[in-house]
Amino acid sequence: MSDIHQLSLAQLRNKLDQKKLSSTEITQHFLERIERHDSEINSFITVSPELALQQAKQADELIARNEASALTGIPIAHKDIFCTDGLRTTCGSKMLDNFVPPYESTVTQRLAEAGMITLGKLNMDEFAMGSSNETSYYGPVRNPWDLNRTPGGSSGGSAASVAARLAPVATGTDTGGSIRQPAAHCGLTGIKPTYGTVSRWGMIAFASSLDQAGVISHSAEDAALVLQAMMARDPKDSTSITHPNTQLTQQLTRDVKGLTIGVPESFFDTSLNADIALAIRAAITELEQQGAIIKPISLDLNQHAIACYYVIAPSEASANLSRFDGLRYGYRCANPTDLSDLYTRSRTEAFGDEVKRRILVGTYALSSGYYDAYYKKAQQVRRLIRDDFYRAFQDVDLIMCPTTPSTAFNLGEKTDDPQLMYLEDMYTLAINLAGLPALSMPCGFSQNLPIGAQLIGPTFSEARLLNVAHQYQQATEHHKHTPSKYSEA
Ligand code: GLN
Repeated sequence: MSDIHQLSLAQLRNKLDQKKLSSTEITQHFLERIERHDSEINSFITVSPELALQQAKQADELIARNEASALTGIPIAHKDIFCTDGLRTTCGSKMLDNFVPPYESTVTQRLAEAGMITLGKLNMDEFAMGSSNETSYYGPVRNPWDLNRTPGGSSGGSAASVAARLAPVATGTDTGGSIRQPAAHCGLTGIKPTYGTVSRWGMIAFASSLDQAGVISHSAEDAALVLQAMMARDPKDSTSITHPNTQLTQQLTRDVKGLTIGVPESFFDTSLNADIALAIRAAITELEQQGAIIKPISLDLNQHAIACYYVIAPSEASANLSRFDGLRYGYRCANPTDLSDLYTRSRTEAFGDEVKRRILVGTYALSSGYYDAYYKKAQQVRRLIRDDFYRAFQDVDLIMCPTTPSTAFNLGEKTDDPQLMYLEDMYTLAINLAGLPALSMPCGFSQNLPIGAQLIGPTFSEARLLNVAHQYQQATEHHKHTPSKYSEA
């Protein structure tokens, strides 16, 4: 069978259960596609064929004994931010180029226990800092819809590999938009759950109070299956929670009648590309036709999200990245003259420019003379941004708005201007600051480039978000397209 890569996770499950395909055949098919196509996309940093085929063999044995569960035997690829026992984990950095973790992250562990097959580790912006996957030590990832453009970031490898159908689904992480923005640029569904839903244990830390893992997939249905297997309270992560609503797949078929969707009109000003505005409005109309009630709302504090995030995230990053000292693991410079030279040169030689920029900004904001003016102030603004959402959710069930201000941009277009790059995140950052769940789903194209619509919900509303996206996807075709080059057998 040659169209394996076009099948949804539910379709793969059927083929496996009916013994029409084995997990080994499915895994080999994806490994061959990676081999054939990834040299031009660069979505994988490490491919793990031996591990994958060994896991597939075990899955086939379970299936033969009729002991399979929903994800047994289905391949996945992981963002290279998740530590994988015995499998190199780089976080997109020269610093960790030689790092082979002696332990497994909770996310990858849970998915392996659910029977999923690990195809390999995906390219990403260095330490997940970026919006275009161009800060990776392993080179930029190319967008399968147009190889001259970025797939978005920082989970760019996750999005590009799924869009080119080199993996049926992928994990990602989202600190300020890094699941939703690349999902939007690659025509995919990407969900970032409520902070605390998914354990951060073994996930290399960028900004601990914002980081959350999630899924990038072709549909809300696929995302629900995988996220459901990831979410659980983990004693190893003290910020993880017992989620009150974990049965995501069961709730996909609810209808949207009577659901109130708020639309923040200020998000549709001149910063937004006109085609994107039209596509989002059309998606809103589709949900209205299905019975949703649409209400204009204001989310005025969103205008402060970029300034607030770019103080808090670098502050936390500067603390988290202090562990990379050239001593314990990771890169060490050659022939250090003394301890200070070892620290300085190891970090100078192994961190890229964007990481250094964040460490400098964060260390400055946290320094004793500036702490009150920057870090403390940013935390206060963060609370107001959160309150702004909580107030909005007193009147509406969900919020719908754009994911990104423009479609995928050209490689190199914004690399010289960090502030221009930071503007990419204008619609996504506030959600992380507030700890809320949100997803991006495909809602159209502009000049053959995908457009994403963002749905935001109150705490713990993952099931509702995926349900609304699923109902939208039942009525539309935007999520079904594959870049022509990658649809063939
Ligand atoms: N683009 C944002 C940043 O560079 C968000 C990154 C992320 O979500 N990991 O910080």
